[in-house]
Amino acid sequence: MTGAVTGAGTGGLRARIAEIIASDGPIPVSLYMLMCLHDPWHGYYATRAGFNRDFTTAPETSQVFGELIGLWAANQWFAMGQPRSVQLVELGPGRGTMMRDVLRVAASVPGFRDALSVSLVEASPLLRKQQLETLSRHAVSHVDTIEQVPAGPTIILANEFLDCLPIRQFVRDGEQWRERQIGLAADGALAFGLAPPAPLPADISSPQDQIEHAPGLDQIVDVLAARFRQDPGCALFVDYGPADTAPADTLRAFRDGAQVDPLATPGEADLTADVDFLRLRRLSEAAGLTAHGPVTHGAFLQRLGARQRSDVLAQANPSRAAEIAQTVETLVSPAQMGERFKALALCSTGLSAPPGFEA
Ligand code: SAH
Repeated sequence: MTGAVTGAGTGGLRARIAEIIASDGPIPVSLYMLMCLHDPWHGYYATRAGFNRDFTTAPETSQVFGELIGLWAANQWFAMGQPRSVQLVELGPGRGTMMRDVLRVAASVPGFRDALSVSLVEASPLLRKQQLETLSRHAVSHVDTIEQVPAGPTIILANEFLDCLPIRQFVRDGEQWRERQIGLAADGALAFGLAPPAPLPADISSPQDQIEHAPGLDQIVDVLAARFRQDPGCALFVDYGPADTAPADTLRAFRDGAQVDPLATPGEADLTADVDFLRLRRLSEAAGLTAHGPVTHGAFLQRLGARQRSDVLAQANPSRAAEIAQTVETLVSPAQMGERFKALALCSTGLSAPPGFEA
């Protein structure tokens, strides 16, 4: 890296990325994604995460989501034998909304709330602040990585976290593969191109003509496997991605609720890619974890009782009954979030299948 990139500069993120490319050559998609999302001066999550403007997530859609996840967590605590102390960890808690709903439900399960120590893994200082505001009635700690969470029985929750892990993209060229990269067009605009042919990273292959690879998945699996070898634990990942193939060409940007060109406004749009659930499952099983799913969002939430919970809430709030029913429908309906989103649980060996994953 050159000295030019070590500072906020004056021209914004696009100018800094252009400087890097001009001096060091084109950059892989993963570095572009990392800078756009997490650059401390101009990164999307670091400076302007646009919840409920650029995008909306399940916990922001309906309180029923976090409540069901809270009951799921309580069930896992029972399955672990009700340990007196359990680490509850959320990866990428956004505005803290899901954890607020989880903790409200946890308080209704005797013994569970008192057993919990809550850690939030969050990269963005802006969102850390917002999480503390949302969770002001609770004791929570922020950490940079799961490794910083104290040892012991652990329940990990992550909604729409894996989709913002930086991805590398590879494109087949005859018998060879070339990595997609971002360079400068003749007019100085950011433009996609392809690196010279090179072998794919170890353990990646595809019958398709394009493949995406999130190196962060390997790291997460290593950390979970090491942790769950020492102490019982279970991690729940909810996100979008196919259940039966590897994602191919899925980098997308969202701004003001619309999909936009990912290169048009670096740092000003949310960048995301489909999650490779099959690879996550394969890596986990190879590391000695027990994997459940992926199952669809709709099936998962309905097995946890989404419709029943929706009815109870609607009866208690008659003036909001239609709205409550409609937002829960958004979560489970195949035409909305029900099919595209999936749930996957990765657990230490010896725990029974968690709720929502029964055949
Ligand atoms: N779970 C929330 C937010 C999803 S947005 C919800 O469902 O509403 C993604 C979240 O992950 C944000 O909080 C973002 O800042 C955080 N995040 C993304 N990459 C991260 C990383 N590498 N380390 C820690 N947090 C990260």
